[in-house]
Amino acid sequence: MGTSTQQDSLWQAVLGEIELSVSRGNYVTWFKNTCLLKQADDIAVIGVPNIFIKQQLELKYGDLVAKVLQKNGIAVREVRFKISSQASTSRPTDDVVVLDQPSPSKSTVLAKETGQSAKPGANSLAHSYRQGLNERYTFDNFVVGGSNELAFAACQAIVGQPGTKYNPLFLYGGVGIGKTHLLQAVGNTLAARNPKAKVLYISTEQFVQEFVDALRFRKTADFASYYRTADVLIIDDVQFIAGKDKMQEEFFHTFNALHQANKQIIISSDKPPKDIPTLEDRLRSRFAGGMSIDMQIPDYETRCAIVQTKAQDHEIVLGQDIVEYLAQNIQTNIRELEGALNQLLAFCEMRGLDPTLAVASSLLSANKTRPKHLSAKQIIERTAKHFQIPVEDIVGPKRDKDIVVPRQIAMYILRNELNLSFPKIAKELGRKDHTTAIHSVEKIEKESKLDPNLRMAISEIKEHLYV
Ligand code: ADP
Ligand code: MG
Repeated sequence: MGTSTQQDSLWQAVLGEIELSVSRGNYVTWFKNTCLLKQADDIAVIGVPNIFIKQQLELKYGDLVAKVLQKNGIAVREVRFKISSQASTSRPTDDVVVLDQPSPSKSTVLAKETGQSAKPGANSLAHSYRQGLNERYTFDNFVVGGSNELAFAACQAIVGQPGTKYNPLFLYGGVGIGKTHLLQAVGNTLAARNPKAKVLYISTEQFVQEFVDALRFRKTADFASYYRTADVLIIDDVQFIAGKDKMQEEFFHTFNALHQANKQIIISSDKPPKDIPTLEDRLRSRFAGGMSIDMQIPDYETRCAIVQTKAQDHEIVLGQDIVEYLAQNIQTNIRELEGALNQLLAFCEMRGLDPTLAVASSLLSANKTRPKHLSAKQIIERTAKHFQIPVEDIVGPKRDKDIVVPRQIAMYILRNELNLSFPKIAKELGRKDHTTAIHSVEKIEKESKLDPNLRMAISEIKEHLYV
């Protein structure tokens, strides 16, 4: 078919759209250096730089590429990925770390000299090891108080000498008290100190899902070698591994491989190892074999400091009365505290008001009347209504931007209000792939920080849910 420039601009359009629907990390890692090689006879052939990217795209993104191609007027029956030198011309960016070559064979040395990629194969594996890390979580913006100072100190010690002390470090405690924040801060700091280090952060939900996919596509060896070669492995919310026998077995071996090699392992959970039901004894004893720290909900003073810090992030100085009011009334969960603050700020911004105690208290009491049985369906319907689109569309196959964004917002609200798992969120919105839900929630979380209109939309939807 058409000329190669036509193909190029078609592919640019496709990429533009894909960029909107996957997370930045995924886009840069998997799509950035791809090209459209050929499109004829119902088949599109996408050029990719190496075997690793080829496998991931085949595994996870074939459908997405086909859909977006179709939206751009190219209906294909099949999408193929092919390793091509055309696809690997651009140099790795900051976002991508290239694995050290195991041993510089003649061909890799040559490739280095000519700046071209070597014969495709295991040697040219490239991967963004920062995947999973979110830069907004740092030690600097973590407020330390009596409830978390031990955990904070242990994390700092690990950053000083990863793999030597406290291995594994096991942090546990209730929801929304800063476990993920600390884990991420460790990961970000270590990745920044040593850009070559393979620092992996993964939620257990995602870890399990990847493992299930690996079983299904007979890629368990890849899965195992990927995680067993980490320099730092951070596994969040490990309680979700309960009852998953095969996964526990796999994780046990990963754990041993890393531990024996003195690689740092950090784990979080909502309860201590001994209280996680259906956890194999051998894992239980591994988890408890390092340092376990109980994190508590921050005390009143710490909560006040957190509210102030978060308000400052929005470049707003809140009256002390409001800060105290929020900290007094939301005692059990920092995520909720932050949510209440964001809601207050969005509400005031929308109406051009200064935040006052009166507004804060009226918003909070509206929240308290939250229906006990808010359902996923109600959230989805409310979101669709807000954007004046049919519910069939928001849960249907359409990928137009004015449908996709509300869908992503609905996912975000489902996660935040009902704390649904990603696979469940995907299912509620008629998505097959739970990674779509992960990307969507991350994306809205990130964008709502920057975009006041988005924040307003979210808090308006929520207001209607609760009044
Ligand atoms: P958990 O993983 O324990 O459920 P998170 O780490 O996700 O909780 O924390 C929820 C929210 O509260 C995050 O936005 C986090 O930044 C914030 N948070 C929790 N504790 C603190 C703290 N001590 N200082 C600053 N922010 C905090
Ligand atoms: Mg967490």
